[in-house]
Amino acid sequence: MPYIDNARFDVSIIGAGPAGLSAAYILAKNGLKVVVLERGRTPGSKNLYGGRVYAKPLEEIYENLRNEAPIERWVKKERFSIMSRGELFTVEYSSQDSTSFVAYLSKLTNWMAQKAEEAGAVIVTDVRVDKLYLEDGVVKGVVSGDDILKTDVVIDAEGVNRLILERLGLVEKLNPSQVALGLKQVIRLDPVKIEARLGLSPGEGLAWLIIGQPTGFLPGGAFIYTNSSTISIGFVVFLDEACKRATKHVFDILEEFKQTPTIKNIISDGVLVEYGAHLTPEAGLDMSPPKLYSDGLLVVGDAAGLLLNLGYTIRGVDFAAYSGYLAAKTILKAHSEGSYRKENLSLYQKLLEESFIMKELRRHRGISKILKSSEVFTEYPEILISMVGKLFQIQDSSPTLIQALRESIKGKTSLVRILWSMFKMVRAI
Ligand SMILES: Cc1cc2nc3c(=O)[nH]c(=O)nc-3n(C[C@H](O)[C@H](O)[C@H](O)COP(=O)(O)OP(=O)(O)OC[C@H]3O[C@@H](n4cnc5c(N)ncnc54)[C@H](O)[C@@H]3O)c2cc1C
Repeated sequence: MPYIDNARFDVSIIGAGPAGLSAAYILAKNGLKVVVLERGRTPGSKNLYGGRVYAKPLEEIYENLRNEAPIERWVKKERFSIMSRGELFTVEYSSQDSTSFVAYLSKLTNWMAQKAEEAGAVIVTDVRVDKLYLEDGVVKGVVSGDDILKTDVVIDAEGVNRLILERLGLVEKLNPSQVALGLKQVIRLDPVKIEARLGLSPGEGLAWLIIGQPTGFLPGGAFIYTNSSTISIGFVVFLDEACKRATKHVFDILEEFKQTPTIKNIISDGVLVEYGAHLTPEAGLDMSPPKLYSDGLLVVGDAAGLLLNLGYTIRGVDFAAYSGYLAAKTILKAHSEGSYRKENLSLYQKLLEESFIMKELRRHRGISKILKSSEVFTEYPEILISMVGKLFQIQDSSPTLIQALRESIKGKTSLVRILWSMFKMVRAI
């Protein structure tokens, strides 16, 4: 571990992602001595996501978010498409009242780090925490290599891999059925071209989800988000399903998606400037540690399984940041009471339960299983595209809707089965 000033820290935080940094900001702002330890070269250098953040939870933490944060575009258009054989069926919603924005996670994380540092937190990069430091079963700091950093309380904000929790025996090894694999590329393009090609007014942002062909018909979805002068394009697929069903490498599936006529036209003369891959925790509460607190320890963000993927939208950053905020509130209260034992830290679980995070996760519990097992991503895109094609590509006579549907499902499935899976999906979402 690099030399860290002897000044005793009250709190050490593992990981400079949205969860850890939001906790650090609130704690430092309220006078506690905080150190954030990050294994990456800079805060944000190891983070990767799709592109869109819901603003309200973040505005409770960062009052001046709208004016200060590195926001690329506010999302004014939502598009949802089904793609098969290069053909596209799209539903679009547009509104000038936007509740979410597009941003680079690395820039947003850097801005959060700057806010935490301005408030007095110390951020040390290039340090990997190996394990927690315990005294008589109570967490009393962290260990990195041969170094021990003693603090009164630790926040684990290490993200989805949560190797530290695994080493402590608090969670089992990650299982492919609990996570999804995300791939993403960032393509630089003239803003005027972005807007013209995607039907946007100057400065408007787009969030576009596409299912079916873009993921090679694997359960999951592709996304396109517009930054100021780049487009983020990629997809998220359930890892176990990808391992079982993928017939080609996921990178090739993404390249094929980029070669479909619709996408090719959008990104033509664009320059690839960034690419990466990352896991997301998809099993939500079913992969959370049994308790998110213990003596001297709180677990926040992806490490706690606090992410919701509803298929048409994914909420991880706001959940992570807000859980960090609630952890900070808990620690401030425990500090005033003079003890970080689990009796005091259990307030975190209570605050989480009362917040939108647990309400959302409970309301949609089991969604990942339903999304994963649903034919909506695998068989149905082709059926729907075939049906829509029959309706619109008129030769001499035009079929009725029911005739077009019957012809499209013939030999593949039954109407009852389609209605049943649609019902299950709609009820879960
Ligand atoms: C492809 C993809 C698309 C996504 N799209 C969206 C989206 O559009 N909108 C959205 O809201 N969310 C999205 N998410 C989810 C979102 O990125 C996460 O939920 C969010 O980043 C979680 O924040 P966190 O702080 O908990 O963890 P992370 O952001 O993962 O941060 C954890 C940090 O801990 C550090 N770390 C880990 N282990 C150690 C260690 N031992 N020592 C020191 N440091 C350590 C890591 O380097 C990292 O910086 C997406 C995720 C993926 C993969």
